[in-house]
Amino acid sequence: MTLTQTGTRGFKAYTAKHLDDLLKRGHLNAETRLRVRAVATVLPFRVNPYVVDELIDWSDIPDDPIYRLVFPQEDMLPSDEVSRIAALLRSEAPRDELQATVRAVRMRMNPHPAGQMELNMPRVGGEPVAGMQHKYPETVLFFPKQGQTCHAYCTYCFRWAQFVGEPDLKMASDDAQALVRHVREHPEITSVLFTGGDPMIMSAAVLRRYVEPLLGLEQLESIRVGTKSLAYWPGRFVTDPDAADTLRLFSSVAESGKNLAFMAHFSHPREMESPLVQTAVRAIRDAGAVIRTQAPLIRTVNDEPGIWAEMWRRQHALGMVPYYMFVERDTGPQDYFAVPLARGYEIFRDAYTQVSGLCRTVRGPSMSATPGKVCVDGVAEVAGTRVFVLHLIQARDPALAGRPFFAHYDPEAVWLSDLRPAFADRFPFETEPAAGALSALEEPPPR
Ligand SMILES: *Cc1c(COP(=O)(O)O)cnc(C)c1O
Ligand code: SF4
Repeated sequence: MTLTQTGTRGFKAYTAKHLDDLLKRGHLNAETRLRVRAVATVLPFRVNPYVVDELIDWSDIPDDPIYRLVFPQEDMLPSDEVSRIAALLRSEAPRDELQATVRAVRMRMNPHPAGQMELNMPRVGGEPVAGMQHKYPETVLFFPKQGQTCHAYCTYCFRWAQFVGEPDLKMASDDAQALVRHVREHPEITSVLFTGGDPMIMSAAVLRRYVEPLLGLEQLESIRVGTKSLAYWPGRFVTDPDAADTLRLFSSVAESGKNLAFMAHFSHPREMESPLVQTAVRAIRDAGAVIRTQAPLIRTVNDEPGIWAEMWRRQHALGMVPYYMFVERDTGPQDYFAVPLARGYEIFRDAYTQVSGLCRTVRGPSMSATPGKVCVDGVAEVAGTRVFVLHLIQARDPALAGRPFFAHYDPEAVWLSDLRPAFADRFPFETEPAAGALSALEEPPPR
């Protein structure tokens, strides 16, 4: 198989055209392979040889968690949609016809959740600035243009719309000076977060063009890089030709008196087993960076407390700091991967009880929703009513952060929009009473 080149350094990856051959390794039959390919016309697929050869256990298909993390599953989309697209593939239908069908399916899947397109884009003179999101006062997100792919794509990715080549769905900028101007105009910003895609798909030279102009900005305390490269391509920091140059860039951030906060995405403890990862972690820490870890809770990939406890313990042993457990967002194949909030909370708490206080830096389960990051703190009985106890870790309105509030317990709720306020006619971030809100002491009607 000839691999496809990707990113500014020509990383090699398998794409949809290699999918059929890869699936044969898992001994899937022809009909299943066609249906998986149909799903891969809607959702992005990319995987590299490291993930295929080092991380996936091909004797355990389709249950292997890393396989499920990167390979589409035939049941990720409604069966009738998959059948329709599979029929088009089988009959080698004209490209236009296939694209129109695919596009209709994508638009049904809430490609930009939590108002990212409309609400978070900063404006200068009324004009939206592409490639940035500024939702919480102290942190601005920047989407560098050359960093909008990944070493492999996670099937559950909430940024999936970035990868499918629909220009209307894409956020990206190559204007480092616009970022500097935006930071200068907003003295409240103390942190810039490079995100994507995966910024570590960029070469050290390209990354430097974005990072260096920030080093002289005194107001900045940290530069963050959100990346899954430690899991998907640890050689990036050890064996790649510009590994040393990348680490030097990290060191220059520490030397400028700022924290290089390396936000590492790990979904499963298996991703930390390779000695290469352990060497990479040491190298990044030796460059003066602090590695924090985060991942969403995903059904069939990591929905067991033992997996999280083991992840946090290994991360801690290697000198990383557990940071967030996220709830799968309300986009793309959420129905497929969602774990109910009640179950998510149980998994979090169960794992939390198994680790040392040094791992309990982790917060969650947390929903990145329109009003902010909403943490499920627990389930309690208050004045005879069973409720979720929640608080905003981050809030679009900062005055709301850190205050507890309540929602009626619902074992099936998977997202904030499924919850109804308890002991109040609205949530703290709502200005109007919730539709059909109940008076404080009324029981909720059956759903
Ligand atoms: C999560 C997030 C941040 C960073 O939040 P922290 O709690 O500081 O890690 C910033 N902006 C957006 C839009 C986010 O979703
Ligand atoms: S690495 Fe991150 S941005 Fe890339 S596909 Fe996975 S979740 Fe999405």
